[in-house]
Amino acid sequence: MSRSLLARAVDLVLTTEPRARYRLGIWLTSVTTYLIYTGILWVQVALGYTPVVVASALTAATASVNVFLYFGVRHQWGPRWDRSLGGIQLLIGIVFMWLCYATAGPAAPATVIVVASHIVYAMFAMPPRQVWQLVGLSLGGLAATMAVSHRLQPGHYPPGELLVSFLYAALVVVLIARLAAIVARMNEGLRSKSRELESALERVRHLATRDDLTQVHNRRHITELMGIEQQRHERSGSPLCVALLDIDLFKAVNDNHGHQAGDEVLRRFAQTAQQALRSSDLLGRWGGEEFIVVFPSTSIDEASVALQRVREQLIAADFSQVAAGLRVTFSAGLVRIEPGERLEQALERADQAMYRAKTGGRDCVEADAPATASGYIARRA
Ligand code: GH3
Ligand code: MG
Ligand code: MG
Repeated sequence: MSRSLLARAVDLVLTTEPRARYRLGIWLTSVTTYLIYTGILWVQVALGYTPVVVASALTAATASVNVFLYFGVRHQWGPRWDRSLGGIQLLIGIVFMWLCYATAGPAAPATVIVVASHIVYAMFAMPPRQVWQLVGLSLGGLAATMAVSHRLQPGHYPPGELLVSFLYAALVVVLIARLAAIVARMNEGLRSKSRELESALERVRHLATRDDLTQVHNRRHITELMGIEQQRHERSGSPLCVALLDIDLFKAVNDNHGHQAGDEVLRRFAQTAQQALRSSDLLGRWGGEEFIVVFPSTSIDEASVALQRVREQLIAADFSQVAAGLRVTFSAGLVRIEPGERLEQALERADQAMYRAKTGGRDCVEADAPATASGYIARRA
């Protein structure tokens, strides 16, 4: 019970939206850092290094800053590229570092290491040029803080000590900024390697699933897609149709105009068919001059209309660039896959229907559906 209460409280503060929660999680880390800083501040008070009034003011400032940052992050006050207000947090952190130095009394030199930690944070978020600007800002501000501290409390901040601690701080910060630049370059290298890998993977995926010549799905991939569609069809009961399309007298194209012209006809045929079909229909090259179309959630009448559309667009398509006066037609066998029917069986029926379309005179679609108990009805569309 108490655990769920805690979980609910955490949900309330950090929200349940994953990205906001991630950003607020980072904010929580910085709150923890500020809490530790405030703790150290009060240890300084106990040791007599820092006046109570200064520590109280700083504690109040830390609390207000974190409340401001909480709402800023939660309600996305920052620009799109910096929703977690990283830039502002870094600037506030640097200003606090100066205050930290100015209020630490004899312990001041120890605080300069905090500058270095800011630079380490910055290197993960900023390009090298900005990191160097940050270095300049941090050290410039530190020098100014030292000068002011010396003026106000010369006893606590002797000039020699100031100079030496400033030089050490500059050395550490510059070394760390160098390292930051190297890490940033390595990060960029890794990112570009991963982009290269991604595009290589995409190329391999394309090669494995597409037909080289026509760029439609290859036989292996369309078979896989057909299997997926069949499972969906078995689950949902929505109709699923498949058609085999074979270009008519294609051998004559090769014989009369050459193999290259034949290849170009195959390319244009695939392109025309793809354009005539809906984007949800799947077109693949079944082999040679045979293509296959899978029609998910489509009745046999609708599929027949779609194939007619392919036929009409093929008539309208211009093959004259391949060979003057060339006309390209196809014969198709169309089936609706029946519940429980194996794909091989359905494809065999489509092949027979296509054969009937060929023997019946070509340039037509033969639909085949086991609609009656007495057997298949076949009709020409
Ligand atoms: P039908 O109307 O009966 O289908 O006659 P067809 O000439 O189209 O049929 P056939 O099966 O006799 O010829 C198919 C031809 O397709 C034979 C083969 O050389 C050619 N072919 C198969 N694959 C390719 C290819 O990738 N490029 C080219 N240019 N021709 C191909
Ligand atoms: Mg053939
Ligand atoms: Mg043929």
